[in-house]
Amino acid sequence: MKYRSLLFDWSGTLVDDLPPTLHATNEVLEHHQVAPMSREEFRKRFRLPYPEFYEEVLPGVALESLEDIFRSSFRQSPTKVTVLPHAREMLDWCREAGIRCFVLSSMDVGLFTRQAHDFGLHGHFEAIYAGVIDKRERIGEILERHDLPLEETAFVGDMVHDVHTAKHGGISSVAVATGYDPVERLAASEPHHFFDHLGDFREWLKGTAVPEQLAE
Ligand SMILES: [Mg+2]
Repeated sequence: MKYRSLLFDWSGTLVDDLPPTLHATNEVLEHHQVAPMSREEFRKRFRLPYPEFYEEVLPGVALESLEDIFRSSFRQSPTKVTVLPHAREMLDWCREAGIRCFVLSSMDVGLFTRQAHDFGLHGHFEAIYAGVIDKRERIGEILERHDLPLEETAFVGDMVHDVHTAKHGGISSVAVATGYDPVERLAASEPHHFFDHLGDFREWLKGTAVPEQLAE
């Protein structure tokens, strides 16, 4: 198998949380008398690390107060988080194939933990790194701590920041078109691989197995 270890982003990669995220973001904007964004405008303007986005849309507002409103509005959102198609199958298959899986996400630790447990997905991961504002600052330490060989490891994500993080860590980047960043912007960041969804990635990865691995 080309990759024996995979780091996964969470939002937009394994789960679809765009509706509650948009709802919560608009609650934050409304609280500061700023007009709400449409889904398209949000996708166009949102970026990671998210403090940069908030500094642009709400300059000078303290991040901590934004995060408090965001968290409570997210929990009360009328639309809920769902597991993306192919995500559970991908993680199940990785377990069978002996591929080590990790999470590296900017999502708030409390929100992440609740979702991972509600969906019964937390057991699929060897280690979870949530609440990471700038993933580039943590990737090196994570690869080292788990002794992950660079050439056998990839970071799978839906945003340009994820591609940059993979490159920063010296590992492969796998972009999926199921999340936040518009496809054109994501493609322009030149990921090593670009798939419509995790199902296509899984099929591709299966195809890289040498015959002995397939027979296992
Ligand atoms: Mg994401």
